[in-house]
Amino acid sequence: MKTEYLDKGSINRAAELLSAGELVALPTETVYGLAADACNRAAVAATFQAKGRPADHPLIVHLSSVEEMAFWAASVPQEAWALANRFWPGPLTLLLRKGKRVPDVITGGRDTVALRLPAHPMFLLVLKRLGRAVTAPSANLHKRLSPTSAGDVQRELDGRIGAVLDGGDCALGLESTILDLTGSPRILRPGPVSAMEIEACLGETVIQPLEHSVAVAGNMREHYRPQAPVWLVPAGALNAVVGQVESERFGVLHMPGNRPPTGRCIEMPPAAQDFGALLYRQMRNMDESGCEAILVEEPPADAAWSAIHDRLHRAALSVATEARVINEALQLQAVKAG
Ligand code: AMP
Ligand code: MG
Repeated sequence: MKTEYLDKGSINRAAELLSAGELVALPTETVYGLAADACNRAAVAATFQAKGRPADHPLIVHLSSVEEMAFWAASVPQEAWALANRFWPGPLTLLLRKGKRVPDVITGGRDTVALRLPAHPMFLLVLKRLGRAVTAPSANLHKRLSPTSAGDVQRELDGRIGAVLDGGDCALGLESTILDLTGSPRILRPGPVSAMEIEACLGETVIQPLEHSVAVAGNMREHYRPQAPVWLVPAGALNAVVGQVESERFGVLHMPGNRPPTGRCIEMPPAAQDFGALLYRQMRNMDESGCEAILVEEPPADAAWSAIHDRLHRAALSVATEARVINEALQLQAVKAG
């Protein structure tokens, strides 16, 4: 079955397909989500099939109103209301104790549920029309890069899902911040809403562990990966490393003013938000143009870049301070390809 392409005039069709239990990729302000009627167990289960995602990696429930939190959560703490009123619609996911109505298939059997109200107007129109919440993980194959355009979804999931609704390029291009509110507020996945903004809203400290054991798909070491292997290169080593890479086709994402003399170079924007909006897009472009390797110059270290560092460290095999590790991996890759 071919995946139906829906333009912006097709809100009703998207809702009708969801209501019939089909999977429909919808635009959000973060990345494209693969929506299923959250009250339809079979449709939710089909999401895991379409993505090749293990059943124990739970899905975020997307709501169309702040009040709906009370339907899905066992109880809604004061902090959750405050954060929802401040940041929704927007890129913040709240993890709460789940209510009785939440099907196990959504949460992988956990006693918590992840909730968010996305900011894309077309997403909200579809939800209003459907009259129910949807589950919506990123609309990509398991472990791959999240899609930031309808074309990305179509190329990766064609024939595996019912339809894709085209809402243009995603404004943020990075997945939502996930905040665990089942104990002291704790960030499980850094994202567009920063720890500082959350602290300012709550008036209390937010924990942002570098590693945690809560099973979150986005917490896997290998995640958000393009097809070509990625290496992070410290700014000071970029020219030396790039000059010695033994490949005809490799890409370099570099910061302004640091263009190396060789490689398929793309200058990234200097501000974190603009960089984030383009990161997956440019990695996909490099895959599509047949790059054998992608080198990314490490962006600045300050807090504004924490979501970007998180995704880059999951995408990359390692930090390379010299070309040797890259060349060895490329040789191995060539031997395997025969
Ligand atoms: P994505 O599939 O890209 O939308 O990512 C959704 C993220 O939310 C994944 O990292 C999930 O594992 C995480 N998530 C959803 N529900 C829960 C939950 N109940 N407990 C912990 N993580 C969750
Ligand atoms: Mg994902």
